[in-house]
Amino acid sequence: MYYALKHPTGRKAYDYWLIKQASLVRKFYIGTYYIPSKKMYTAVFKRIGEADPQAFIELTPSEVRYGYKMVCIEGCGQCCEKNSGAVIMKSEAESMGIEIRNKPSEEIRLVDGSVETIYRLDTRKGSQCVFYNSKRKNCTLGRKKPTLCMISYCGAFAERQGKKYVRVSGKFLSNGKVEMVFKEVSRREWNDLEGMVRNGINVWRAVAEILRRRNMGSK
Ligand code: SF4
Ligand code: SF4
Repeated sequence: MYYALKHPTGRKAYDYWLIKQASLVRKFYIGTYYIPSKKMYTAVFKRIGEADPQAFIELTPSEVRYGYKMVCIEGCGQCCEKNSGAVIMKSEAESMGIEIRNKPSEEIRLVDGSVETIYRLDTRKGSQCVFYNSKRKNCTLGRKKPTLCMISYCGAFAERQGKKYVRVSGKFLSNGKVEMVFKEVSRREWNDLEGMVRNGINVWRAVAEILRRRNMGSK
């Protein structure tokens, strides 16, 4: 059995409680997936240890096997360099020994009654995250990055059963679920995508360009 983090609701008291539960079991995180059978786009864990089970729903191994696992293109960095929206919880920063100095913060009473301080990290020009290394295009925190960063992806790129995919559409449904459509790409198309993204082309423009070239080729 696997465990999917429930969808956020837009209510901070609940959504940060979800992130807190995920942070308690981050060592069991296996990836962020789109699970077609459940219409869920979510972080998946192989165990939930001491976290509150109410924050998760169960998935079968087959649901995970046939899910699309999000992947990141190394050397991209677009999530962190502009409008990162990055935040870290005080409890998480303390447990990982991350020093947070003079960052804007907000106190939130979570649905379990605990109070959590949330620090904003996107305090450089263009809302770039303070932990972003713009030369190396990576996160200086490495494996200690905040849980929210660890489970967040642009959602443009995925893999399943050894094959690579791009997302071609996605829409939110009224019940909080999401419907996503992925298309398989060839090795050559994937290499082209990597090249474009590393050269700073926006991920969605790169996906559109690959699909445009494919359509041109089929005419
Ligand atoms: S935009 Fe996508 S590929 Fe680029 S850093 Fe973010 S998750 Fe990775
Ligand atoms: S903490 Fe790291 S992963 Fe998160 S936004 Fe900042 S640089 Fe990116």
